[in-house]
Amino acid sequence: MAKREWMSATVHEDGRHLRVFEIACGRCGVSARKSADNCGHALAQTVVPKYFGAQGWKVGTKEKSDRCPHCAELSKDVRAIVPVIIDPLPDWAIHDWATTMPEFEAVRDELIGKQKTPTTPEPEMKPSNHVVAFPAEKLPEPVRAEPPRQMTRENRRVIFEQLNGVYDTKGLTYLDDWTDQAVADGLGVPRAWVTAMREENFGPAGDNKGIKDLIAEAQKISDMGKDLASRISAFEAKVAEIRKQVGLR
Ligand SMILES: [Zn+2]
Repeated sequence: MAKREWMSATVHEDGRHLRVFEIACGRCGVSARKSADNCGHALAQTVVPKYFGAQGWKVGTKEKSDRCPHCAELSKDVRAIVPVIIDPLPDWAIHDWATTMPEFEAVRDELIGKQKTPTTPEPEMKPSNHVVAFPAEKLPEPVRAEPPRQMTRENRRVIFEQLNGVYDTKGLTYLDDWTDQAVADGLGVPRAWVTAMREENFGPAGDNKGIKDLIAEAQKISDMGKDLASRISAFEAKVAEIRKQVGLR
């Protein structure tokens, strides 16, 4: 294998031309430079790798196998826990394990006994089959589905009688503030039954009397308001007239 040859390169920095030797990590791409001033080509072949090595770089036999201090450290750790079956461990393995398996770092740290940097303590894991026990009285009430009952003759009779008492067949509306719901609640039957019986035998739900009374009351108040407003403006006109007559402005 041909010996690796270190060649200087010219870079432009701050408007100046610099001759440097460069190294780049074959794994993460981080790079570093060393000035090539006072360092001839022959000398560079021994000085440059020593220089980068002293900085923590793993200088490879090829550019591709150069590793920055961080990646070099990482690969050392990986080798420390992998039985020396494959030695040297191929770079792809180090690369893949360290970067594509997040769980790897923890395993590695554990195996090499590395002290974890103190972090906030993880909350204690609860067993997955942990059952939250509610006090009996706090258990949510099960949703009770309306039983798909059929109206019996007795149901019909009772509902009819009740509707007869609270429905105004002339005005075609409920009396007072009765509603289907109120009838259903009172008799303990599904509202749908009441609705069906009312539609069949009486008439539309309409506005019950209570609601009609309320609306009428609101209308009355509104009318009173309008009346009051017109009386106020009439009064104001009168006041203005009197002011004019007595010479007030
Ligand atoms: Zn690197």
